[in-house]
Amino acid sequence: MEDMDLIKGIGSRTKEYLKKLEIYNLNDLITHYPFRYEILKRSNIDELNNGDKIIIDGMVETTPVLSRFKRNMNVMRFNLSTTKNLLKVSIFNRAFLQRYITIGKSITVVGKYDLLKNSITASDIYFMKLTDTPTMLPIYKTTTGLNRKNLSNIIKSGLSISKNKVIDYIPDYISDQYSFLNKYESLLVIHDPKDVGLLKKSLIRLKYEELFLFMLKINYLKLKNSSDTSGCNRNVDISIIKNFIETLPFELTVDQKKVIKEIINDLNSGKRMNRLIQGDVGSGKTIVALISCLGMIKSGYQCAIMVPTEILAKQHYENVVKLFKGVKVDLLIGSIKKKEKEQIYKKLENNEIDIIIGTHALIQEDVKFNNLGLVVTDEQHRFGVHQRGNLKNKGELPDVLYMSATPIPRTYALTIYGDMDISTIKTVPKDKKEIITYLKTNKDIKDVLLIIKRELDKNHQVYVVAPLIEDDKEKNNVNKLKRQYEIAFKSFNIGVLHGKMKQKEKDEIMDKFLKNEINILISTTVIEVGIDVSNATMMVIYDAEKFGLSTLHQLRGRVGRSTLQSYCILISKTESERLKIMTETSDGFEISEADFKLRGSGDLFGIKQSGDMNFKIADFKKDFKILMQAKEESMKLLEDKKINDYPEIKKELRKSINLD
Ligand code: ADP
Ligand code: MG
Repeated sequence: MEDMDLIKGIGSRTKEYLKKLEIYNLNDLITHYPFRYEILKRSNIDELNNGDKIIIDGMVETTPVLSRFKRNMNVMRFNLSTTKNLLKVSIFNRAFLQRYITIGKSITVVGKYDLLKNSITASDIYFMKLTDTPTMLPIYKTTTGLNRKNLSNIIKSGLSISKNKVIDYIPDYISDQYSFLNKYESLLVIHDPKDVGLLKKSLIRLKYEELFLFMLKINYLKLKNSSDTSGCNRNVDISIIKNFIETLPFELTVDQKKVIKEIINDLNSGKRMNRLIQGDVGSGKTIVALISCLGMIKSGYQCAIMVPTEILAKQHYENVVKLFKGVKVDLLIGSIKKKEKEQIYKKLENNEIDIIIGTHALIQEDVKFNNLGLVVTDEQHRFGVHQRGNLKNKGELPDVLYMSATPIPRTYALTIYGDMDISTIKTVPKDKKEIITYLKTNKDIKDVLLIIKRELDKNHQVYVVAPLIEDDKEKNNVNKLKRQYEIAFKSFNIGVLHGKMKQKEKDEIMDKFLKNEINILISTTVIEVGIDVSNATMMVIYDAEKFGLSTLHQLRGRVGRSTLQSYCILISKTESERLKIMTETSDGFEISEADFKLRGSGDLFGIKQSGDMNFKIADFKKDFKILMQAKEESMKLLEDKKINDYPEIKKELRKSINLD
């Protein structure tokens, strides 16, 4: 945050607010882009009808008077003189503006016009006069405590001191080719557009840069992978795998078998495997990965399974212990004692462990293997390109298998996972029952509680996702719901899980839930991805309308993991057409397509968690053409070996990927 200190008037309090907006340095600040623009064009009052929207500027005539309205609202009233007449203005719950609204000040009021009373019920007040051409006012995401005007001023100051500091990552020859504006110019325009044409040009320029850097990383990995071909011929014995499959308590689906074949082909080819298994929640990716591990182990290699959370690590560990007799497996997670860890390190080096399961610390720490052959990464979308690049930088050259439950239409997958081969599991295990999904509104809570009770009485378990409110209150919110449920379900055990808890506490709760010592688990959306508690048969989600469909699908996927009939209840404030899709299909691809159409890629297939796809301005779907161009040109830059001419680009690449 040092460079932020160059901006006058930023105190520690403001810094805290900015942190909440994920603004930590000057670059974050000037790339905190407006999410929309308010277009302010003076209304012609003579043409307005009663109740129309009005935008008008004028001068404050009277000191605003603040009074109480109903129980917990307030209203402020004052008069505004415009070129034509005097208007009465009232605005609700904006008491903090009172001290800025002083007699004689020029302001612009946006609101609803009441022709008969000659008054405006204002929705917004801006401290400026309108000009004859429409004004485009940037609207920023902000946080309580930091008003839009202040934030806007801080961004302006930030821009004014960063003139010579902004790094332009687009190579000059590409900039010339597209006649891009330069970066600093584009930033000025986007924060204060005077003209729509220029705004569009700036947007394209900034989006291109973001997508260019992203595709550069992917393409870099792609080239690197295709050149790493040495020593990967693994000689996996197919008969061992066939025999093992015979012992499974279920029959593998067609797609599971197909993917296993694809993997074995990779392993037994001279080329290094770098494959992504995409399959909907519950499609049975784990067993496919474990079978691949078995093949590797029997050919004399060690395997590592990397997962995003400890609880998932434990789950996989127990699976392996149960499935593979005579295979030496160990668990390496943050919460085990140092001494134990050291023992595991030693065993890994001495080839006394066949499969090691752990969080990504597994490959980041200085863990040495004896003969690492395969690394499996579960819930790949949780890891960024960053980790994709680093998996292979341990002196070892393992094959790599990724698993992801976020269904992405193929064209997009081929691009954003361009550095990998993709296998898809579409078929769902046939003895699984479809999850029954109900839509309920807040009025039906009694109903909901009854349905929950029915499941509890069968000794089944229930997940409840608590209503969403601001982060600070997350804990309160979960606890409030807990009290309600305690009253409703007196004889059952209720556990809570929220983001503010320590990892250890979370693990303890999850452990209890796994053991059926907790009947109802109330949580925010932190419910661990990939968790497989087959006795949990009900998922209740509050404020469902606030989630993307793909996220709802992922959450719903926590149930329906056995042959038991499972249920999902989506509770929304009002009836929602969009949510109906959830009752109509359980196909993740269909749902993600529908989500795409309805929301754009706002929460792109729920993969926003993975840092590097968290674009600030680009949008995978809407900007797909730009993405394709960025893909092509970044590849060309790499193939032509021109990257050395651009040290700043190289530095940026190095940030996420270890360059050789
Ligand atoms: P995901 O793809 O979401 O990671 P899992 O691998 O956790 O799904 O599998 C979900 C559940 O389905 C597990 O309990 C697993 O044992 C079971 N399963 C996997 N494959 C089959 C199959 N072919 N038939 C029946 N059950 C299966
Ligand atoms: Mg899984």
